Amino acid sequence: MPPNYDEARTRFIADAMLGSLCRKLRALGFDTTYYKTGNDSGILTEAHAQKRVMLTSDRSLAALASSKGLGVILVAGKSDGERISVISRAAAASGTRLVRGDPLCSLCGCDLLSRRRADVLGKVPPSVVVRHRVFYRCRGCGHYYWRGSHWKKLRSLSRRLEPK
Ligand SMILES: [Zn+2]
Repeated sequence: MPPNYDEARTRFIADAMLGSLCRKLRALGFDTTYYKTGNDSGILTEAHAQKRVMLTSDRSLAALASSKGLGVILVAGKSDGERISVISRAAAASGTRLVRGDPLCSLCGCDLLSRRRADVLGKVPPSVVVRHRVFYRCRGCGHYYWRGSHWKKLRSLSRRLEPK
């Protein structure tokens, strides 16, 4: 992934095969767009225009991106956890620091605003309201989040990003 795009947080663009990885990277705090139309020239144009590191599991697309001087990581692995480890190693090997920000909405990639219990009454299931104190609402799509089991899973994915 040669060019180190000098942005506050690492920006990725994930190809059509990597939808669930894209959602996890957003939750981990990476600015990640999902290119779901699966058109090779389109994703190359977008990666270039938006200065995003391309994530793909398609070897020929990765080679094409790299021949055009774009930042690209060839993502392999049977699970998103393995894929995240691959991304972490590829970044380390090329001397690129992966920079995360606050968690983003996994559905649309927008910022999350913190919400108190009183704000979410009637918006999230009552059983969730009693068990949690901190909630988030997506600024873009309005989806609510809380620190449930999902959060624990993210913590273990997050450990895969730590340098070994
Ligand atoms: Zn959202």
